[in-house]
Amino acid sequence: MAGNPRNGRPYRRLCAWLRAQQLPCWLCGHNINYQLHARHPLSFTLDHERPLSRGGDLLDPANARAAHRRCNSAKGNRTPRAQPQRASRRW
Ligand SMILES: [Zn+2]
Repeated sequence: MAGNPRNGRPYRRLCAWLRAQQLPCWLCGHNINYQLHARHPLSFTLDHERPLSRGGDLLDPANARAAHRRCNSAKGNRTPRAQPQRASRRW
C-alpha cells in the first residue's frame, strides 16, 4: 500500500490554501471558527464537493470545499443535492 495521500504535502498545501480563504461552511452556510482545535466538531475540515468514493479528485482545488467537521461527517458520502428522501410508507 502506498501511504495515505491525505498525509502528503500536496494535500496539506490544499488544506492550507482553503483554510487561508476563511470561507463559511459550504454545507450549512455558517461561519467557521478557524482557531478551533481540529477535533472540535465545529472546526474546519476540507470537504470534497464530489466525494472521493464517486471519483472526486482529492487534490483538485475546484473540488475542495470548507466545511465544519460536524457537517462533513454528517454528510458522509452523499452530496447535498442527493439527500435520500424519507419516503412515506404508503405506496
Ligand atoms: Zn457547517
